[in-house]
Amino acid sequence: MSIPNIKHALPVTRQKDFAAWYQAVISEGDLAEESGVRGCMVIRPWGYGIWERIQKLMDARIKAAGVENCYFPLFIPLSFFEKEADHVDGFAKEMAVVTHHRLKAIDGKLQPDPDSKLEEPLVVRPTSETVIGQAMSRWVQSWRDLPLTVNQWANVVRWEMRTRMFLRTSEFLWQEGHTAHVDEADARKETMRALEMYRDFAETELAMPVIAGEKPENERFPGAVATYSIEAMMQDGKALQAGTSHYLGTGFAEAANIRYQDAEGQQQFAHTTSWGTSTRMIGGVIMVHGDDDGLRCPPMIAPWQVVIVPMLRDNPEDEAVLAYCAELAKALGDVDVFREPLRVLLDRKPIKAANKRWSWVKKGAPIIVEVGGRDVAGGNVSVLRRDRLYNDAGKLASEILPKDDFIARAAETLKDIQATLHADAKSRLEANIRRDVTDKAALVAAFEGDKPGWVEVEWARPSGAALDAVEEWLKGEKLTLRNTPLDAAPATGTCIFTGETAVERVIVGRSY
Ligand code: AMP
Repeated sequence: MSIPNIKHALPVTRQKDFAAWYQAVISEGDLAEESGVRGCMVIRPWGYGIWERIQKLMDARIKAAGVENCYFPLFIPLSFFEKEADHVDGFAKEMAVVTHHRLKAIDGKLQPDPDSKLEEPLVVRPTSETVIGQAMSRWVQSWRDLPLTVNQWANVVRWEMRTRMFLRTSEFLWQEGHTAHVDEADARKETMRALEMYRDFAETELAMPVIAGEKPENERFPGAVATYSIEAMMQDGKALQAGTSHYLGTGFAEAANIRYQDAEGQQQFAHTTSWGTSTRMIGGVIMVHGDDDGLRCPPMIAPWQVVIVPMLRDNPEDEAVLAYCAELAKALGDVDVFREPLRVLLDRKPIKAANKRWSWVKKGAPIIVEVGGRDVAGGNVSVLRRDRLYNDAGKLASEILPKDDFIARAAETLKDIQATLHADAKSRLEANIRRDVTDKAALVAAFEGDKPGWVEVEWARPSGAALDAVEEWLKGEKLTLRNTPLDAAPATGTCIFTGETAVERVIVGRSY
């Protein structure tokens, strides 16, 4: 992973302590920080800028699929949840509940005023199926109203016990798609469409290869008939569930009374779906693309794709350097890349150039351009690609290029960085999935000594108590079932867990 004899920008390497390294990327890269509120983070401008890019690009995909945005309340009456038994069961343990609407000084201490107790507690939304279902029941009358497809960008609250910045927070930002359909076939089609949208988004915009598949029944979303996920492999070999799409059957429609009159005049319950991705994706990007010098931000989601650092010396030459940089920034701003104007920043902060350079390295700006007096005189720029920071000799791989050549090639270079990040992550993923394991002892051995990666095994898709037993045994080995990949080869042997005839393949791994 690391090139020896280099003093890296982060205080800890991936090899030494991956968890500490992850935190260091976040703090040194100015992505986010602890807020003082348990499990809730402050997302700093660079981290939020990445989220805004993700939002913009994901939103375009959602709208291209004909799904419209809307907004629903933060507070959901408890009774809405109680209508769907599995759903309320699943979320009961992690709900924040509002019970009062006023404070009062009692014995000199501000406390919820007993006289302001709400008749019905309000849950801070952990997800919005129930409240959107209520609206859908009003909006859907006839088969002509279907499919009904909406999306909401919002914050949600789940009282998570073990939190980690971006990956699992008590409050997180996300999008949640909610759709209603005439029948199972149409709803399942939408479930798979959303899953494929997520897969393609992860691979393309995030340069993060994923495995798309179905979750085992114990891992389903509370109340769902089927849950599908995309799973990404972090550099420590652990899996991160980076997005989910659920076929909800008619359970939520029955709970909220989403009914329609079909072409024959009969009343039918709609079939619904929901699908979501969150700020967790940023955690995935960090752990897939980061290196010992910080984040390497894929150009498509980088708030700034090119950062120009003028090397100023507090002398009269500075003006010429700044003018040259401004000209360069203007020319780059006219370049189109990934069908958008290139995002370029001229960093004029009064900080030493070398410090500025390293701060952008840690943040992961894809291209850092340094300009000094000598560059101006020669019509050049000094270009540093964040995806290949060092040359084979372990020196910073800055390249001096004629300014105009750099401008002419900037879009190509950014595309190449995006592709390189994806290719590197893809080959790491492929190299770290084993498919040759056929018994439990070999499965355990495959993870011995913290060997990174996943193992794809054949199984009989056990259900109920048999699945519980499998998960219990895996838990003892600190392993989990991830998903049954859609693209897996067909099963030909016996189930690694039960010895029955296998019906499909499932991924086993450690996870976040
Ligand atoms: P769900 O509604 O449970 O299917 O969640 C949708 C997606 O949100 C998941 O696939 C995760 O990527 C993400 N997610 C779930 N819980 C959290 C959390 N506590 N913090 C951040 N992201 C989360």
